[in-house]
Formats: sequence, C-alpha cells, structure tokens
Amino acid sequence: MTEPLLVLNGVTRRYRSGDKEIEVLRGIDLTIAAGEFVAIMGASGSGKSTLMNVLGCLDRPSAGQYRVGGIDVRRLEPDALAQLRRERFGFIFQRYHLMPHLTAADNVQVPSVYAGTPRATRVPRAQALLAKLGLAERAGHRPNQLSGGQQQRVSIARALMNDADVILADEPTGALDSRSGGEVMRILCELHAAGRTVVIVTHDEHVAAHARRIVEMRDGAIVADRRSDGAAVAERRDDAPVSARAAGPAGRLRPMTSRLAQAFATACAALLAHRLRTMLTMLGIVIGIMAVVSIVAVGEGAKRYMLDEIGAMGTNTIDIYPGRDWGDSDASQIKTLVPADAEALGNEPYVDSVTPRVYRTATVRHGNVDVQATVSGVGEHLFRVRGLALAEGIAFDSEAVRRNAQVAVIDANARRKLFGARGQAIGKTILVGNVPCVVIGVAAEKSGMWGGGMNELTVWVPYTTAGARIVGARRLDGIIVRIKAGQPSEAAERGIVDLLTRRHGRKDFFTYNMDTVVKTVRATGRTLTLLLSLIAVVSLVVGGIGVMNIMLVSVTERTREIGIRMAVGARRSDVMLQFLVEAVLVCLMGGAIGIALSFGASVVFSAFVSQWSMIFSIGSLVSAVAGSTAIGVGFGFIPARNAARLDPVEALARD
Ligand code: ADP
Ligand code: MG
Repeated sequence: MTEPLLVLNGVTRRYRSGDKEIEVLRGIDLTIAAGEFVAIMGASGSGKSTLMNVLGCLDRPSAGQYRVGGIDVRRLEPDALAQLRRERFGFIFQRYHLMPHLTAADNVQVPSVYAGTPRATRVPRAQALLAKLGLAERAGHRPNQLSGGQQQRVSIARALMNDADVILADEPTGALDSRSGGEVMRILCELHAAGRTVVIVTHDEHVAAHARRIVEMRDGAIVADRRSDGAAVAERRDDAPVSARAAGPAGRLRPMTSRLAQAFATACAALLAHRLRTMLTMLGIVIGIMAVVSIVAVGEGAKRYMLDEIGAMGTNTIDIYPGRDWGDSDASQIKTLVPADAEALGNEPYVDSVTPRVYRTATVRHGNVDVQATVSGVGEHLFRVRGLALAEGIAFDSEAVRRNAQVAVIDANARRKLFGARGQAIGKTILVGNVPCVVIGVAAEKSGMWGGGMNELTVWVPYTTAGARIVGARRLDGIIVRIKAGQPSEAAERGIVDLLTRRHGRKDFFTYNMDTVVKTVRATGRTLTLLLSLIAVVSLVVGGIGVMNIMLVSVTERTREIGIRMAVGARRSDVMLQFLVEAVLVCLMGGAIGIALSFGASVVFSAFVSQWSMIFSIGSLVSAVAGSTAIGVGFGFIPARNAARLDPVEALARD
C-alpha cells in the first residue's frame, strides 16, 4: 500500500517571543489519507491554526517530519513549497482573505495565474466555479460589494481553481451567520463526496458533525482522534486520486515572458487601485526627467546657436596681427607686416583666400550727416574671407585695389545712418575722412552677436586707398586668411607662422585661430551642460528615493495581499517581479510625462526666446527612458526584495 497523503511525525513548532521560546505544537503525530474529511477542534490558542499552516506548507515544522505524498517538506526550497501550495492545497480562511481591489472572478483566478494557466482556460473555469457556487451574477463584484457568505464562497472557488487535492479550511464558518455557514458546510461536504480531502478547523459541534473524523487538540498536542465512520474512510483511502492530479497544467514551467506579462497586469491593477498615490509617486520622476531632458535640450540649442554664429563669421579663418599678443604696446612700432606678406600667403596650397587689413576710426559724411565709422582698408577678397554677402551693388575688384580707386562698400548700419531707411546709397559720394568715395555696394545685414555689432558702422575701402590717403601708412594692421575647406586648421596655422617668420626674419606677429575659439566654445558648452545635467540628475535621484520610499510603505501596507498571493502559490520571484514591475512602470510613466512636459516647455521657451530653440536629441530621449527604467529597478529593488522575503504566515496574520 502506498503511503497516506499527509503524514506528520513528531511535528513541533516553536515560536521565539523575546528571549523565551514557546512551543505551540508539541510532537504531533497525525496521518491523513486522501479522501478523508477531518475536523480539528480545540480551545482557542491550542495550536489549530498553526497545525493547519504546517499542513498547507505555509509554515514549516521546527522539528519532526511532515511528508506530503511521500515528499519531506522540511527539505524543500520556498519555491517548491509554493508549488505544493499552488498545486495540491486550497486554503479557505475565516476572514476570506480576498484581495479588495480585484473582482470576484479575478480573485478566483489568482492561483491559476501563478500556475501559468492561459487566460482562455482560466476565465471560463473561474466563471464555471462561481456559477456552481451560486455566484454567477456576482463575478464582476468586488469583495466589499459581497456579503460574508458570498465572499467565503468566492474563496472556496479560489481554493478549487487549481483543482487542489486537499481543501484546508480554518474556521470557515466562524465569521458567518448560521444560514451562510450551513451553505458553506454543504459545499465542503459535496467536495468531500467528490473525492477531495477536506480538513476543517471549527469550534462548532454541528459543523464538526459533518466530518468523518474529529481530531481534538489541547495545548499544542492531540488529545483525541475519533472516527465516526471508519469503514468509509478506509474504502476511500484506496481509490484516492492522489497523483493523478499532480500532472495538471500547473506543473509546467512557465516561460519568463508570460510571467512578465502577468506581473505587468498585476502591477497595472495595483497602480490603478491607488491612482492618486501613483501620480504623487511619479511626480519626483516627472520633475527629474523633465529637468534633465530640458537642460540638455537648452544646452544643445545654445551650443548650436553659438556655433552657427561663429560659422557665419567663417570658422576657418586665421587672423594675423603684428606684435607678440593682444595689447602689445610695441605693436604700432612693428612695420614688417606688409601687403606682400598677404600675397605670399595667397600662394600657399592650404589658403582659400586672403586679405590685408588696415583700419581707423574716421568721420564719414554724406550731405550734412556726420557719423563715426570704422574705416576698413581691405583687399578684394575680404568678402569671400569673411563670408559677407552684398545686399546691393557690387564689391570692389583687384583692379580697383590696384589703382587706389575711391570706392566704398558700406554696411547696413552705415547705410541707415547716412541715407535713411529709404534713401538711395549706390552711386552716391560720401566723404571718408577727407577722401570722397563712391558707394558701390551695401553689405547684407548679419544677424547675431558677432554679425557686426548693433552700433558699429563699417565702411570698406581698398586698402591701397586707405593706406595712401586715410591711414597714411604702408604697414598693415593685420591679415585675414581663409583656410581651404577640409584643411586642418592647426597645420595651416603652423604653415602661416613658418612662412611669415621666414619672411620677417623673426616672429613679430601673432595669430588668432577661429577654429580654436570654436573648440573652446564647444568645450565650455559641454562642461556647462554636464554641470547642469548633474544638478538635474540629482533631482532625478531624489525622485527615485521618493519612489523607493512610497514602494516601501506600499509593501508594508500590502503585506496581507502578499501573504494571500503566497498562500495561493505565488513564488518569491513572482512577488518580487510584481513590485519591481510596479516601480519600473511608475518611473517609465513619470519619464514619459516628463518628456512630454519638456516638449511643452520648449514651446513656451520659443515663445520668449527667438534667437535659439531647445534641441531634443534622440540620444537624450533614449537615455531619459533608460534612466527612468534604471531608477525603477534600482530603487524598486529593495522594496520588492522585502516583499518577496516576507513569511507567508506572518504576512497573512498582519492587518
Ligand atoms: P488556534 O488557532 O488554535 O486558536 P493558534 O495556532 O493560532 O491557535 O496559536 C497557538 C498559540 O501560538 C497561541 O498561543 C499563539 O499566541 C501562539 N502563536 C501563534 N502564532 C505565533 C507567532 N507568530 N509568534 C508567537 N506566538 C504565536
Ligand atoms: Mg486559529
């Protein structure tokens, strides 16, 4: 004969309370065969519930042996115990232990969800079970919309969901009126008649009378074990379908994706059940992500703007000045920088174009209008070197430069001052210093910070004209070289320095490379963005800590829910996954809202700042999403682990 279904040998359960140990179960020997109907009776505190918890693998003996279908439970891992609870046991509790935020049908399905039963199977099965228990119309109700008797019937349906061998009912009628209690007992009798093993704890003699065997406990020990119908028990023992059930769908290994999907659904339900809290939890992440994304976008926009501005000036230009450096007092004495230098530079292979430059501030007059302007004597290539376009007229050519032509190109500011908004400028003669020059062109206005300056007026004349008649010197104030596109600017700068040093016999000049400026701007922009991002990241971390805080409270508050889930067979990893997914979902939603708000901010931003706009890069958006997921996992881990490590019995006992 095979071994009976449940066998306890000298089972002892001790609790430590303070520094004392109390023995709640003292050497229990009990054998329950498949198909039996056992009632456990005894005074309050005699250890009945503790025994039931051991029987149902919610708790493990401190000493002694407990075998379920021949398997020694003391050696099993928590997940193996969860599997036993899921597949072989159905619990019915005095206080029902339904999850308040789930409907009756969803509550009934919980055990099969953890068993991996597909939705298509479990939904009709739950409905059928509820219908059989007279609750067909109540499937969509939540527990607080049901009477005590109805809730207990829902919990019976849940116990039957995975087709358990053994129904364990701890005072199932204790909280019910006598009519509902009678109904529950009738159902339990039917289950027994259908071949299930039923163990029930009760104070009530009438209830106990339904059982075929009554076990009486006192102070943690069994004091009596009476059988009212020995023959019937013996008969059932043989045809008990013990192992036939174990091979149900519940035993299958579930793929991770389905467990994730299940954790996702569970997490969604929990988050929806506490909408306000969910939103407040999210707030920190929303603000953090919005700050990070916005700051990066503003930084990117500002950098792009500056670079565009510099680009408009011609980034690949190198300026050459006499002297050792800016502000060199001897610079005016140095007369070695001459137009021939510019010519020589123009023949270098890396040079695109070059222009000599002399300049003075001088009075420029047209009719009775006098203005102070920068008079710049330049070569015909200036406009190419500087990337200047003409709005009207033409620029002077090499011929004009050669014969000291008295022609001028003026900028838009000078045009406005001298000729008014509408006046004709081209062809008019202006007095530059004392030299009359004909205006032949007007430069197009350049936008932005270095486009020419708001108040500066510039008049360009051939440097020959300027040198001879305005400045009165043959030496140059500078040379501007434009490097060919694609030429490395450092190498070009070295080439220029070499050439001029050779020509002058010593290095009595210095160079100013726009490319270096660009690099500095880039680096400064990067540093600034990094710094601001760091501050934003701190706010994100604060948000993450907020999530962790709320999750920890949530785990404490939902201890009973966790206990219920574990009692019906959730693995530790299921519980862990549920809370982790919750944390990640909160953070992801927060991240999405943060990004959306950041886009909104950019619309507002562009309404106030017209020069540049926030630039969102895919990279920053992707890292925002990845960052919020990481925060969810990082800060959700400890709460989730706390939840997974809960002891099911203790969790259930808590309110
Ligand atoms: P019953 O269900 O028969 O009323 P229990 O099995 O619930 O009795 O409890 C038996 C005894 O064990 C009680 O005296 C109770 O105080 C004690 N007990 C139960 N659980 C714990 C625990 N987690 N820690 C300490 N003592 C406990
Ligand atoms: Mg009890």
